Amino acid sequence: MIPTRDEILAFPKTDLHVHLDGSIRLATMIDLARERSVELPSMDEEELFAKLRLGANFENLVDYLSVFQHTLSVMQDEEALERTAYELAEDNARENVRWLEVRYSPVLHTEQGLALPQVMDAVLRGLRRAERDFAIRCGVIVCGIRNINPETSLRLAETAVAYKNQGVVGFDLAGAEDNFPAKDHREAFYLIRNNNINCTVHAGEAHGPESIHQALHYLSAYRIGHATRLKEDGDLLNFMNDRRIPIEACPTSNVQTRVCSSLRGHPVKFYLDMGLRVTINTDNRLISHTTVTDELYQVAKTFGLNREEVLKLVTNGFKSAFLPFREKRALINQVLTEVGYGGTLIGY
Ligand SMILES: [Zn+2]
Repeated sequence: MIPTRDEILAFPKTDLHVHLDGSIRLATMIDLARERSVELPSMDEEELFAKLRLGANFENLVDYLSVFQHTLSVMQDEEALERTAYELAEDNARENVRWLEVRYSPVLHTEQGLALPQVMDAVLRGLRRAERDFAIRCGVIVCGIRNINPETSLRLAETAVAYKNQGVVGFDLAGAEDNFPAKDHREAFYLIRNNNINCTVHAGEAHGPESIHQALHYLSAYRIGHATRLKEDGDLLNFMNDRRIPIEACPTSNVQTRVCSSLRGHPVKFYLDMGLRVTINTDNRLISHTTVTDELYQVAKTFGLNREEVLKLVTNGFKSAFLPFREKRALINQVLTEVGYGGTLIGY
């Protein structure tokens, strides 16, 4: 039987792939714009929702990414960054997300003169405050951007290294995938790996499996963001499966960017059946107009998943977390006890 939305809401959950600048509350965006005299396409919530096409289908990934210019326009000072980080963690805590990995590229928040450490500190302040107020723990993933340049990725990697053990749990490569190959950014990833920091890469979303191949073999990604087109390369699929390399699936986002024609056409069930370590994530709570609960519920409904299958996706999230192993094991055991499988389904 497919679990109800309320049952899924009650499950302890993770979100391992959520962009800070794509997940600001709509009301906060207007609020911040008003305070800062920033012009948005509309200052009315309903109208702005329509104008930004939130939750709608876009032409492609680049078109989808165009919405970020508006969210970023109000996220250029410390107060705005701290607030949006706090609220993102609060929204997640309210739907029982216990472990949240917030990703963003600090360089995109320096347009009005902030230095990278000011950006980093403001976001971490917001997350730490939320951790004190709610039952949630948070880590930060710093994103290099494919379509900026490899030098900037290296600078961001250096920032991630400086913030290791101070809130940063990983490094990522995001942005436009077509014409911006992952291998160009290998120096940044070498620095990251050399400092024993986890990394993930957006790949196989707007581009084919060869992009995933590069992420795995040039950048040595420990997780892959999206990997929607992995299904086109069985050999690579088996490579990822054999090494338990997690997939950060973001189903709604993939429909919006037209990587999948519909949720039904999404490979998430195929990946689950193949035994891949697939996790379900939001990508952008604002732009995709979604939540972790809704993503899981939509997947469950679309593919007729039962409670155990949904819990498999949920525990895959905890298993794939960029957390130290013993902490992760303790967290998983606690989660399994809460959902009634204490001591029976230990995956390690
Ligand atoms: Zn993403």
